[in-house]
Amino acid sequence: MTIVADARPLDLVADFPAIPEGWAYLDTAATAQKPKPVLDAIAAAYGETYATVHRGVYQRSADMTLAYEAARRRVARFLNAGSADEIVFVRGATEAINLVAQSWGSLLKPGDRIMLSRLEHHSNIVPWQLLRDRAGIEIDVAPLTEDGRIDLDRMAEMLTPRHRLVALAHVSNVLGSILDARRAATIAHGVGAKLLLDGCQAVPRLKVDVAALDCDFYVFSGHKLYGPTGIGALWARPEILDAMPPWQGGGAMIDRVTFERTTYAPPPARFEAGTPHIVGSLGLHAAIDYVEAIGLDAIHTHEAALVGMAREALASINSVKLFGPEDSAGIVSFAIEGVHPHDIGTILDEERVAIRAGHHCAQPLMDHLGVPATARASFGVYNGEQDVAALIRGIERVTRIFA
Ligand code: PMP
Repeated sequence: MTIVADARPLDLVADFPAIPEGWAYLDTAATAQKPKPVLDAIAAAYGETYATVHRGVYQRSADMTLAYEAARRRVARFLNAGSADEIVFVRGATEAINLVAQSWGSLLKPGDRIMLSRLEHHSNIVPWQLLRDRAGIEIDVAPLTEDGRIDLDRMAEMLTPRHRLVALAHVSNVLGSILDARRAATIAHGVGAKLLLDGCQAVPRLKVDVAALDCDFYVFSGHKLYGPTGIGALWARPEILDAMPPWQGGGAMIDRVTFERTTYAPPPARFEAGTPHIVGSLGLHAAIDYVEAIGLDAIHTHEAALVGMAREALASINSVKLFGPEDSAGIVSFAIEGVHPHDIGTILDEERVAIRAGHHCAQPLMDHLGVPATARASFGVYNGEQDVAALIRGIERVTRIFA
């Protein structure tokens, strides 16, 4: 294997107690391992500082409320949102998209259209299908280019003034392809549609600035950003959030409740019914601090070098077929002729290499690629050249076993 590029080593594996020596964890696109500062923040939040938010008159609860709102401000700063009020805490990207589909989607009329793409994760397909069945809207699907990017030229030709929303992955969880989000916004706005970006795979590896991207909604999950599970964020333009009706009812989202009539709190509280994931928000705050201290440019450069090495080495093995563009962000999907991806995953596991094998919640994309599943290696800040080398050794063993 030839090592290309200058994989500026981040050498951060010591920050991750869950990664033992000699284990190549290459499944960060599914979920990232957690650094010590995040684990410490979670322990402290459930430990010596634990209390509820919003309702308490005692000091501990007031402090926790401040910490919860500080986490919201941290997410706003991370995305360059105009204000913390534009950030709604959710369970993750799936919940964020369901929130938009149910709340903003209730404002749509029969015959309105939504544009998705062929590479979307099921969480950016199924909520829109549920809305279609409820509200009589139509869904269109933008095709992909040969190298696995959303074909924005074709999408522009397909868009009409009936389109109210374009909802696209900022980075594909299978192909790693990076969307030209700024151009997608211009195209969507050209027909009066809004742009929703699914940023799950983008926020851990690209600097995201919602103002510069000019999108209308941005969603992500904390657990792929080195934070806890069960917490994520929805950002939307304030005038859009203001016009959106509640989607779940309960405590904390109200202004005044009587049996005759209830009035609702302004955003973001309007969309956060019930006791929130207090600890999750504090863990997410720590995760954002961690990632930004490393720097997203450094992370991107590091992962790009690892992707380059992995792609070059895999391409030199005859039976390997690579998917996605050369410049994919942190993610390499591949198949080996005559070997089911699950067998690849099992043999690699014996070599202490953890990859993902399956449809990656993107069955329409698998249909497009003409495969039932792919093997996927995805990188994080803790990976290095040794992990790529372990992957390639494992793949060579797979090809020997199945030769
Ligand atoms: N979109 C993309 C691109 C993803 O990679 C994922 C997670 N695999 C999701 C959405 C859904 O995220 P979650 O399950 O955390 O809600």
